[in-house]
Order: sequence, then C-alpha cells, then structure tokens
Amino acid sequence: MGSLWSVYLSKAGYKVKMFERRPDIRKAEISAGKSINLALSDRGLHALANVGVDKEVLKMVIPMHGRMMHDLQGNLTYQPYGKEGQVINSVSRGGINAKMMDIAEAYGNTQIFYNEKCVDADLENGIVHLENTITGEKSTHKADVVFAADGAFSAVRYNGFQKLDRFTYSQTYIEDGYRELLLPANADGSYKLNKNCLHIWPRGRFMLIALPNEDGSFTCTLFMPFENHAYSFDKLTSRAAVEKFFKEVFPDFFDMMPNVADAWEDHPLSSLAIVRCYPWVKGKFALMGDAAHATVPFYGQGMNCGFEDCTVMWELMQKHNEDWKKVFEEYQLLRKPNGDAVQDLSLHNYHVMRDYVADPMFLLQKKIEAKFSEKHPDKWMPLYSQVTFSHIPYAEAYKVGMKQENIMKQVMQTPHIENIWDSPEIEQKILTLLQQETA
Ligand SMILES: Cc1cc2nc3c(=O)[nH]c(=O)nc-3n(C[C@H](O)[C@H](O)[C@H](O)COP(=O)(O)OP(=O)(O)OC[C@H]3O[C@@H](n4cnc5c(N)ncnc54)[C@H](O)[C@@H]3O)c2cc1C
Repeated sequence: MGSLWSVYLSKAGYKVKMFERRPDIRKAEISAGKSINLALSDRGLHALANVGVDKEVLKMVIPMHGRMMHDLQGNLTYQPYGKEGQVINSVSRGGINAKMMDIAEAYGNTQIFYNEKCVDADLENGIVHLENTITGEKSTHKADVVFAADGAFSAVRYNGFQKLDRFTYSQTYIEDGYRELLLPANADGSYKLNKNCLHIWPRGRFMLIALPNEDGSFTCTLFMPFENHAYSFDKLTSRAAVEKFFKEVFPDFFDMMPNVADAWEDHPLSSLAIVRCYPWVKGKFALMGDAAHATVPFYGQGMNCGFEDCTVMWELMQKHNEDWKKVFEEYQLLRKPNGDAVQDLSLHNYHVMRDYVADPMFLLQKKIEAKFSEKHPDKWMPLYSQVTFSHIPYAEAYKVGMKQENIMKQVMQTPHIENIWDSPEIEQKILTLLQQETA
C-alpha cells in the first residue's frame, strides 16, 4: 500500500521519497514473498478511485462472482458472494504494486530507492536510517512526515515505536501455516477451473483455495495446522506423503495436477500472525497498512484495509488542511477500532471457510439471510456484504454481524427449518428477533 500512498502524496504535490528493501519488482525476477494474487474488493477499489487509478487496475483483474466449493467426491456447490454484479477481483500482487510505482513516478514528485532497508527511526525528528542491502552503505534521511508502510514486521515499529513507554504491542501466530501451489493452465492456455470463482476445498480443520491468474493458471493455497492434527504440514515431508494426501483429500484437484508432489517445494511453508499495537502515530511518523494492523488473510481484507487507511488519511488531510498533527491524531482514533475489527472478522471468517462453508445448514442459513435481506434491505445487510461491498466501518460491521449471527442461531433451531425456510413465519421470526436485539 506504500506505493498507492505515494500516488496520493505525489498527486497532492508533495515531494516523496520511497525506500524499499527489495529490488525493483518491475526489473527483477523476484517472488512477491507471499500470495501471488489477492482479492481486491470495494474498499480497495474506492481508495484507488480517489486518485483516479481504479480503471487502470480494473484492466488487470479477474472478477470472481462467488465461492465454488469442491467436496470429497468432486461435487461442486456454488455460492454467490453478493447480489448480481457484486464481485471480488483477483489481482496480481506484483502487478498492482508495479502499476502504482509507475503512476507515482509519472507524477514526477516521487523518487523510489530500491535495496534500501530501514534499520532505525527517530520518530520525533522524522529521521530514517537506511542500509543498502547490496553495498552495505548507510544513509540518513529527514522528512516533515514519514509513513511507515513496511509491513507486518515493520522495522519502524520495531526500532521506533516498540521502544516507546506505554506502547502496546502483541504478535499472535495462529496454529496454521500456508503453502502455495501453482495450478498451471491447460496446454492451450485455458483455465482448468471456472476462472470467475474463488475455489475452496473445505475439509474441516484445513482447506485449499484457488484464485485465478491472468495467464490461465491458478494460485492455490493450502491452509493447515503445522502439527498435532491428523492432517498437518509436519506429516507431509516426503514426495509419497504429499501425493497420498492429495489423492485422499483433494482427489479432483489431484486429477488436475498429478505432479503436485513435484511442485510442493516451489513455495515455502509460511506462518500467519496477527499484530495489534497502539499508538499508530508518534512525532512525525504514522504506521499504515500491515505495519499497524497485520491480520490473517481469511477475509481477503488485509490489503483492502491498508488501502482504506489511504482513503481515511486523505480525507483527514482535507479536513484539517494538512495540519499533520491533527491529521495523525484523528487517523489513529478513527482507524484503530477498525484495525482491531478487521482482525476479529478475519479470524471469524477463518472458521466459516474452514468449518462451515461445506455444511448444508450453513448454506441454508445464508439462503435465508439473502432472501430476508433482499426483502428488507434497510434492515439486513449480510456481514460478508458489509465487509466486502460497503464502506461501513469494519468495527460497526463486526458488531452488527455478531448480532445477526445470534439471531440466525435462534432461527436455525426452528423445527423443520429446511422445509419452511422461506415461509412468512420465518420472516416474522427474524423481524421479531431484530426488534428485540435493537430494543
Ligand atoms: C497468504 C496471504 C493472502 C492474502 N490475501 C489477501 C487478499 O486476498 N486480499 C487482501 O486484501 N489482502 C490479502 N492479504 C493481506 C495483504 O497481503 C497485506 O495486508 C498487504 O500486503 C499489506 O500491505 P502493506 O503494504 O501494508 O505491507 P506489505 O505488502 O508487506 O509491504 C511492505 C513493503 O515494505 C517493504 N519493507 C519491509 N521491511 C522493510 C524495511 N526494513 N525497509 C524498507 N522496506 C521494507 C517490503 O519489502 C514490502 O515491499 C494476504 C496475505 C497473505 C499472507
């Protein structure tokens, strides 16, 4: 998101210096480090639209209309994400980053320095200390304001903020890790799966997902416990074990990729953490994106939330006439509850994707909610839609979503719900429970 924020600042006429630890991804053949593609949704698109770059990005995306679930027998169940026309978009991580760098540089106000690793920060004086990763040369730069968009393991946070008195900080790893696999295109370049869906193979305690790439391939991610489970990464240490695992639990996937065991080591096994901290601003520095609120990827909102940080910071710049002290103060007050909420939502959706999307009662529940919401759009917006297709603050969406969850739990206990799910009786029950919740 740092490159998008540079676009905002350059467009506003600021002279921007951006320091990136890695080489220029536009020139070097380097891995993005984590997922090759990402789901971009409304909040992210809105942030891109604010600076008029959404259309450029939309040319690079593959829209996904819904989830396609694959069961053990290879049967498919489709669940739309929202109403007709509501989609999330698969976009290349490197592609969108490169595009933002091109645009930021094109304004003429942004200079990007590569292989420059931040090693220290003087928060009060707006100073960053850098070390060139190739030459080892050290340098120091001073600025009026500094935005640390240096990711979940932010060097600015570590070297600057974490040394502050009363800085609150936690880093929590979940017990699951992930490994990516590339499912190649067919020989003629066509897709092996429907490209307009996000594919999920939910298996209770673990799952495989797949998002389309522009070249006909899919980037697939296996999320699974590291250890201590019947199926865990520590058991997949040989070619034979990997092959047996895929044949047994993802047979339709194995048919498409019989050489999966050969590709197993192409991407590393990686861990997933949630980082919470406060304050997000100090002196001339502000933390943005994952540096402030890194989350697990199960709502597809990490980047979208970081992009929304840009929207909010931008709106506050207008509101406070670029009085940075006021901008920073309100930024953290507004955004911290939403950073916390996007983390809670991500963990919540982890369980939904892993444990429930394959459950017929869960699918029925979603059908009831969709029908009720269609009839009473003023009273009910499904949680997924609030998060993905609206700009309702994450904290509010989470609060409303948990109330809805509570109502639906009671509704689903109605005897013979599967037969009467679309009856006036159920509609009335939801209306009554809603009234009780708001009373
Ligand atoms: C498996 C996976 C899937 C995901 N899927 C989605 C998704 O579908 N949708 C979504 O919205 N989000 C998704 N996310 C989350 C998303 O990747 C992050 O929220 C997003 O990349 C955060 O952007 P950022 O710019 O804050 O940090 P990063 O993307 O981590 O960028 C930080 C940048 O800072 C640089 N840097 C780091 N340290 C230093 C240093 N010391 N000095 C100089 N430069 C430095 C890094 O090289 C990097 O370029 C996913 C995450 C994972 C792990």
